[in-house]
Amino acid sequence: MLKWPSMANFLTNLFGDQNSRDLKPYLALVPKINELEPAISALSDADLKAKTAEFKARIEKGETLDALLPEAFAVVREASKRTLKQRHFDVQLVGGAILHSRGIAEMRTGEGKTLVATLPAYLNALSGHGVHIVTVNDYLSRRDASWMGQIYDFLGLSCAVINHESSYMYDPAHKEADEKRDEEGSFKVAYEFLRPCERRDAYKADITYGTNQEFGFDYLRDNLEYTPESLRQREWNFAIVDEVDSILIDEARTPLIISAATADSEDFYKMFAKIANQLSVETDYKIDEKRKAIQLTDVGITKAEKLLGIDNIYTDRGVKYVHHLETAVRAKALFHKDKEYVVRGSEVVIVDEFTGRLQPGRRWSEGLHQAIEAKEGATIQKESRTYASITYQNFFRLYKKLSGMTGTALTSREEFFKVYGLNTISVPTNNPIKRIDQNDLIFQTEVGKFKAIARKVKEVNKKGQPVLIGTVSIEKNELLSEYLKREGVTHEVLNAKNHEREGEIIAQAGRLGAVTIATNMAGRGVDIKLGGKPSTDADYEKVKAAGGLFVLGTERHEARRIDNQLRGRSGRQGDPGETQFFVSLEDSLMRIFATDMIKKVMGRFKIAEDEPIETGLITRSLETAQTRIEGFNFDARKHVLEYDDVMNLHRKTVYERRRKMLVGSDEDVVKDLMNIIDENDASMMELIKAKKEALGPNFPSALRRLFLQTIDMFWVEHLEAMDYLRASVNLRAYGQRDPFIEYKREGLMLFKSLQVSIDSQVVKMLPNLGGNSVELKPLSTVESDAKGILGNDSAVTSGDKMGRNEKVTIVKNGEEKEVKYKKLDSYLKDGWSVK
Ligand code: ADP
Ligand code: MG
Repeated sequence: MLKWPSMANFLTNLFGDQNSRDLKPYLALVPKINELEPAISALSDADLKAKTAEFKARIEKGETLDALLPEAFAVVREASKRTLKQRHFDVQLVGGAILHSRGIAEMRTGEGKTLVATLPAYLNALSGHGVHIVTVNDYLSRRDASWMGQIYDFLGLSCAVINHESSYMYDPAHKEADEKRDEEGSFKVAYEFLRPCERRDAYKADITYGTNQEFGFDYLRDNLEYTPESLRQREWNFAIVDEVDSILIDEARTPLIISAATADSEDFYKMFAKIANQLSVETDYKIDEKRKAIQLTDVGITKAEKLLGIDNIYTDRGVKYVHHLETAVRAKALFHKDKEYVVRGSEVVIVDEFTGRLQPGRRWSEGLHQAIEAKEGATIQKESRTYASITYQNFFRLYKKLSGMTGTALTSREEFFKVYGLNTISVPTNNPIKRIDQNDLIFQTEVGKFKAIARKVKEVNKKGQPVLIGTVSIEKNELLSEYLKREGVTHEVLNAKNHEREGEIIAQAGRLGAVTIATNMAGRGVDIKLGGKPSTDADYEKVKAAGGLFVLGTERHEARRIDNQLRGRSGRQGDPGETQFFVSLEDSLMRIFATDMIKKVMGRFKIAEDEPIETGLITRSLETAQTRIEGFNFDARKHVLEYDDVMNLHRKTVYERRRKMLVGSDEDVVKDLMNIIDENDASMMELIKAKKEALGPNFPSALRRLFLQTIDMFWVEHLEAMDYLRASVNLRAYGQRDPFIEYKREGLMLFKSLQVSIDSQVVKMLPNLGGNSVELKPLSTVESDAKGILGNDSAVTSGDKMGRNEKVTIVKNGEEKEVKYKKLDSYLKDGWSVK
């Protein structure tokens, strides 16, 4: 129950007027929800469940979600009482309502945000458009779905999980005993009720849990697909982002990228170079010096076909061969050694056309550089190409409605508001906070600091009080471990590489006498209960008597948010606890920002290296430094975003067109074609008519494929060109020009030419439409070799081995079909063979 009068005080004291004003409308909802409790509690299980259908019907009739909120929340709370045996606290209702209205609910660690999310998730899922709950790692998405799935299932909604390379549906009947479970015993609970399912089905569920990475990559993957059936996602309706600062701020620095080494082999370029070499200017191709372009003649094309040993390059090989043939001819006709480039050793180096200076490291895109390398007999470099990319900022803006929750948001409220339009509101805790945050201790040297830390840990450990030590890096983590070993303190070291094990370790960090060294971010999302897990009341009381969890920070982080996150591990739900940071003048933050004044103070005191001085003055100046760095970093992220916003427009336009080709009606597809051709061109109209007749009902689908292949090919090239542009505008800043304005201006030009290229290529390929064409390898199969670049390689299947969901084409008696790799075995047994 909310303690109203005391809370009112608490609010104004702690959060200031703005926050209490913002909170007011949400607080007002609480009594409305609570009023409904007696009636709802009296319902039978079946009647409670029937509420879902009733709500859906009312929405159908025009009732808004806002109007339904109090009832829906009351129903979820009742379902939770009956399943989890947990009754949402009043403050949790407040948090839930904030999430429902596009806000960020700042709720401290241990306040039960997992449960909070069930309220807006249920309410919004009633609309039938799907709700995505975003977690920081795969493990947490499984944990949360199998935990909260009980509530949704009770109320008749489906709940699913997307993980890296696997998807699950919450299913209370699923208790299959697979061998894996024994190996990974610590997640027994997580898998118990999760039945593996198709990706698509996971997205069809009312509520889908998953990481930001998987949601984002699935979006990109969908935009590489060639059939509507392979699309995974349905829509971006409502996302609730857990640990929102970690995802929308910390992770937002790295964009999502799907890239792969180009499949084109060296021989491929050599072959085209050879062919180009045998073609002669005027008869086989013409040069347009002004436009820096070449045009193959019919004679030239026939000659090339003969050399390739094929009948028709357009129908037999498709867009890509034509493109490479042209590129090889361009390399021959328009690029001259020692003019546009030089050959240095076995390398082709570009000569800048304006300055005449060599540009080592820069490369022409679209395979041109390789074509020149082949022509010169230089080493042909393999390149990794980007197939798709997006920043998290722009991915999450796809959602009609976005919201988030975390223990630490207030210090970044400006960024949340400016970038995502989200208002941050701090929700009071369920119980008063008893945690004591001590002033920082400051040492002159890092060695002195570590010695003092080891001493402190030993002393605290003697009382049995559990200690959680946060370090800024793995390196420091290990260093500190050495110090503790020397002091004879038994401890756990948390390695951030394995989330599952991480959860396990962190969950036990509150045991009597436990000492845990973790990186600052480690274990986010896992609750630290005093006494450990499972624990008895006696264990809990013992730890409480020892003072609760002691959190010891070994360095101030660049952002106050991260420090607060670490402190927040202690003192959950009104538990006692203590936190303190140990810093030294040799810490990077101090080195850069500590003023001479501080150093002088330290000098004047003539203090031993492992003796601290503790002054509010230094703590304050540290916080000022942090605020400044936060500002810098925000600017840096804004900068990344500004650039991506330019790309975003391109991406949206191209993906929209692509999607129309994929899922649009036949009429739409044909209409698109008519838009790009000249209707007064009689021979063109004639051609189309002839094609329509010849292909009959297959005309639109042949057209779709041609469009998709063409869009993809040019889009990949556009990504490359934009990348290059981005690098080059920065160099131009020397010329007093604003690089961003240049980027925008030239980007627009590139984009316009992209659209023209796509259209003219489609028109050019039209005479060959529907020929017995060997398909261009869809990018989706390329994608399975692709590596996601995210600092770890878990993003996309990497390497040569086939991913289990990858498609393979198989044949039997002339019949052909695509099946998933994991199902291949059973087909092979049936007499099918791989094509
Ligand atoms: P947060 O994500 O806010 O840090 P969690 O969702 O991990 O918190 O929950 C912390 C703990 O509090 C969990 O063990 C959970 O079961 C418990 N909890 C949350 N809400 C309630 C509630 N209304 N009643 C009882 N226990 C709750
Ligand atoms: Mg959590």
